[in-house]
Amino acid sequence: MYLKRGLAALWRSESQAQIGFEPRIARMITLGGPSEFSLIEALCTDHSLPQLRGIMTRAHGDLARVDELVGELTDGGALLNRARQSDHARIPVNAREFLAPSAESRALLRPDDGWPELARLNESTVHVIGLGRTGARIATVLATSGVGRLRLTDSTLVSRRDCGLDYGFEDVGRPRDVALKERIRSLPCSGITSIGPPMDDDATVLVDPDVFDIVRARDLVYNGVPHLSVILSETSITVGPWVTPGDGPCLRCIALHRTDMDSAWPAMATQLSASSAVAGRGDDSVLSALAGAYAAGQIISALTNHTPPCSGTTISFHLPDFSTSATSWPPHPECGCIAPAPDDAVLDAAQEPAPLLA
Ligand SMILES: [Zn+2]
Repeated sequence: MYLKRGLAALWRSESQAQIGFEPRIARMITLGGPSEFSLIEALCTDHSLPQLRGIMTRAHGDLARVDELVGELTDGGALLNRARQSDHARIPVNAREFLAPSAESRALLRPDDGWPELARLNESTVHVIGLGRTGARIATVLATSGVGRLRLTDSTLVSRRDCGLDYGFEDVGRPRDVALKERIRSLPCSGITSIGPPMDDDATVLVDPDVFDIVRARDLVYNGVPHLSVILSETSITVGPWVTPGDGPCLRCIALHRTDMDSAWPAMATQLSASSAVAGRGDDSVLSALAGAYAAGQIISALTNHTPPCSGTTISFHLPDFSTSATSWPPHPECGCIAPAPDDAVLDAAQEPAPLLA
């Protein structure tokens, strides 16, 4: 057994150690003397219980304290037992080293070694539709973060305006999905990237200029596929909401709310959908990198059974200062995608920006 990798063992005083530095994971351990310091130091590398008892004996300490300290650290989730690691084997061999930092960080927040969440990602399929700079960034981050199967959809030819993050000039003139698939396959990634026919997608990302495709969104709700909208606007990129069909607002709810706020919205949305200027819109490199990574994080959060902060919420990244803003959206009572919203559900467009990159 050993202290989880990356977990700091700090001495606060002669009688107290602190395991972990961040307030949300730190725990204080009361120590009886130098012999117990030796025990904590020994746990920075792998030692069995008999070995720990031997260290305590040589340090003339109390043998009963070995079990007490090990029990305290185990109950606090700070210790790992190498013999109990099993999900590591569910990760492709060539991915274990580059995914290890993710597993080790996750382990500090969980009772296990972090690999069960990586194993779930490895068994997941994500469909990314719309592969300009932002969509390509989302796909690349997902693929290199351990998502096992990635499906790409966008046969638009790569232009020089797409290049910089995930396309090179050598990709210009090739279909985006073909070029990106090859690019991702050249990177360390654990899974399969395809352009093929539909699979049982665990999540879909829709990257659209200014307005989402309401028909595609409706089909995803109908088929029960969780999805994330990413909208490229004139000076901003908006991520969200993350839609879990039947639980929280869907994209049609958002459209209905926008119509409540501006009766001309349906007419403008129709014009925006047909606008060649919008269809050819590029995305700023920094905004794409920020919003793309954030969007990928929302997907990974959902696939690992956490609630994405974008559930029922849109987060916008703005030029020129890369500030953020957040808007929460309740289900719309006329949508019918879930049970009617509570009477007191109020659109909160002025809430504090969510913590994004902490
Ligand atoms: Zn709805």
